[in-house]
Amino acid sequence: MGEQGSVHPERSKQSVERSFYEWLKGLERAQVLVVSHVRPDGDALGAQTAMAQILKLFHIESVLVNEDAPPRRFDYLPGYRDMRRSVDTPLPGAPYQYVIFVDAADRERIGKALSLLAPEAEIVNIDHHATNDHYGHINLVKPEASSTCEVIYDWIRSTRLPVSVELATCLYTGYITDTGGFRYQNTTPKVLRDAAELVQFGASPYEIAEHALEAISWEKIKLLQKALATLKLFASGKIAFLEVTQSMLEETGTTLDDAEGLVHYGLNIEGVEVAALFREQTDGIKVSLRSRRAVDVSKVAQQFGGGGHVRAAGLTLHMPLDEAKRTMAETLLTVLHHVPLS
Ligand code: AMP
Ligand code: MN
Ligand code: MN
Repeated sequence: MGEQGSVHPERSKQSVERSFYEWLKGLERAQVLVVSHVRPDGDALGAQTAMAQILKLFHIESVLVNEDAPPRRFDYLPGYRDMRRSVDTPLPGAPYQYVIFVDAADRERIGKALSLLAPEAEIVNIDHHATNDHYGHINLVKPEASSTCEVIYDWIRSTRLPVSVELATCLYTGYITDTGGFRYQNTTPKVLRDAAELVQFGASPYEIAEHALEAISWEKIKLLQKALATLKLFASGKIAFLEVTQSMLEETGTTLDDAEGLVHYGLNIEGVEVAALFREQTDGIKVSLRSRRAVDVSKVAQQFGGGGHVRAAGLTLHMPLDEAKRTMAETLLTVLHHVPLS
């Protein structure tokens, strides 16, 4: 990104937080585009809708856009109905001069929504991916945070802005989804304290969990049956592969989003170190990687142009399914060979 308005790396986190605050202060009555990654998850949507609540406090109008429609299970989020797809027309005010990216490790992660940016757009990049490449003019990036919603909540604390029930609900959604219901390794004492505060502010843990994590459609159960039938172990039970093909989606009346989370059925098998879910998409094979302990799957994903976190990462391979599985098998076998496993 251009240097103008960018924050010097040697300045402290506090001043990045301040820069974002000042930027918002200067945008009263302007319109700001808030975007996130393709096939948005709970953290992406929680962060986008949280940002809409925050922009309201600054008298800024927000336009929330993604390449893909938000899954229905998140329809309790305040602002859910105002979310637009990048293919929708007309989008009021496009192309946009002021843009906030949330939960997107790089610019390209927002997919076709990238076409909505004005050529010299000012970009704020709020994220927690270890692989984030600091593409913004202002980069509020904390790889140690459990979720982008945690990065936003930390920023709110630094500003002393009020936290409404609506804002707490949006933020809690990012915490609960990106920590798998406070179970993954990113669940720290701070995360649990933050969550308790958000509940104090009015977020409903039961209702949010029921919508965002528990509710499951009959169609998705049918997809689960088919995906589990493909589950295979190799490398002495240390690697698990499973797949979701286009025909499985057609036969069960599901969409790619319904395959979200299936990779955990592989990872949760005793003895498995790395699990991969292969999803057949129109533009290639989307691979979701999960690691139990020893393997840094964000590095594996980066080798193929993807990214993510140490224990959860993703990438797309532009090749047929069989070749994609062979490629990942070879790569993961090599990686496993080089890490110490107790
Ligand atoms: P997924 O397997 O899609 O659930 O993604 C696991 C984690 O990796 C999430 O935090 C994603 O945001 C991230 N991720 C997935 N695909 C990519 C990619 N192509 N580039 C960067 N990050 C990714
Ligand atoms: Mn995400
Ligand atoms: Mn996230």
